[in-house]
Parts: sequence; C-alpha cells; structure tokens
Amino acid sequence: MTGPVLSVRAASMRYPGGVVALDRVSLDVAAGELLAIVGPSGSGKSTLLHIMGTLDRPTSGAVLIEGHDVAALGDRRLSALRARSLGFVFQRSHLTDGLTAAENVATGLLYAGVPRRHRQSRALEALGRVGLGHRTGHRPHQLSGGERQRVAIARALVNDPAVVLADEPTGALDTATGEAVLELLLRLHADGTTIAVITHDRDIAARLPRRVEIRDGRVVADTSAVPAAGAR
Ligand code: ADP
Repeated sequence: MTGPVLSVRAASMRYPGGVVALDRVSLDVAAGELLAIVGPSGSGKSTLLHIMGTLDRPTSGAVLIEGHDVAALGDRRLSALRARSLGFVFQRSHLTDGLTAAENVATGLLYAGVPRRHRQSRALEALGRVGLGHRTGHRPHQLSGGERQRVAIARALVNDPAVVLADEPTGALDTATGEAVLELLLRLHADGTTIAVITHDRDIAARLPRRVEIRDGRVVADTSAVPAAGAR
C-alpha cells in the first residue's frame, strides 16, 4: 500500500478530571520507518502509544491503521485488526514461565487465525530473526534479560505486523544489554520492519532515523520530511 501504515490525525486525549494528555497530535508512519517518540515523563508518550495501538480511543481526532479508521470498528474487528497489524514490545518482556521461547513466540499468533501446524515454524523463523535460533527450547528462567527481551521482540514480529510499537524496550536493561537490543531494532529496520519506539532517553532517540518530540501532549518537533496528514 502507498499511504501511511499508521496515521494519527489531530488526536486529543482528555482524561476524567480534565488532564489533557494529548492535544491535537498528528503523526503519519510510513512503511519501513523506524521512529522515536521522545519526551520527558508525563509528556503523553504512553497515552499516544495506547491510542496508536488501539488500546485506547482518543476523545477527539482519528487513528487509522493501514487505512482503517479505528473508530468505525466494533470490538471484534478491532481485536482482529490489532492481532493482524500490530506488534507490541514493552519495557518488561512479559513471557510465560512454563512455556519455551518458541511457545512464547507462538502465542503471538493465537489471535491472528494462524493454524496450529504453522505456528511452530513461524515462531522458529521469528526467533532466528532476533538471533535466538539456538535458544528455541529454553524457558524464560534459562535466558538472560536481553534474551528474554529478544523473545518478546520475536513474539511481536511473528505475525509480520504493519507496525511494531515498542514502549521503552531497553528501559529495564543494563547499558550493554540495552545497546544490543537497540542494535537489533536497527537491524530489523534495515530488513524492512516498521517500528515506533517510545522513549524518554534522548541518547536512544538520537540513534534512530526519525524523532518525534512530544512535550505537554503536543508534537513540538518531527525530523520527518513528510508532514502528517492532519498538519497539511
Ligand atoms: P508519559 O508516558 O510521557 O510519561 P503519560 O501519557 O503517561 O506520559 O501521561 C500524560 C499525562 O496524562 C500526565 O499528566 C499523566 O499524569 C496523565 N495521565 C495519564 N494516564 C492518566 C489516567 N488514566 N487518568 C488521568 N490522567 C492520566
């Protein structure tokens, strides 16, 4: 497709009590981009990630995923769209203890309608992409923190989502391990994966090709050459 894979159009979020966490934010993500959404604590990053991930709906404005206006979808179709088009990585890997790395990754396919017989091979392939082809049978407690986060990244990738949304993916890791995870994200981007990284860390943001800076719920800078649709 030629349009943005994800589009946020003049989206605002007002929480009960009157906090305006997002104020008419517009942002287009094109296929193949790797961008940072960067700002200090309380600037609205998590709120933006939640509306980009269709986990919350904005109080006004619109979110389009692969051209589909999220507001027009009921819960079932929205869940299906989320399972098919989005991958999530969080600060903590949230793996299931009793499952192997491959089984953990395969859970990323449960809601995407992939038949059971294909799940295992897709999981192994995704683990290979994150450099863990030799750890597929290990359980989370047998893996290092960095390896666990790579399993979580494989789980986000296994479905070939239009966009991977990563919320402070290196935030719980030591510097060297975080660096390795950042290098993995750069390599996945080089392979064509579309990734948005939420971070408060300006050094991490500086390493990514595009930076969207958010302050007090507003986009104050966007190094992208392509203006967002809502801003045109
Ligand atoms: P960040 O991720 O950049 O730290 P958040 O999106 O978490 O920022 O928060 C943005 C603003 O919205 C803050 O002022 C925060 O206190 C407020 N906020 C976040 N979530 C809620 C909520 N569920 N209810 C009320 N206010 C909230």
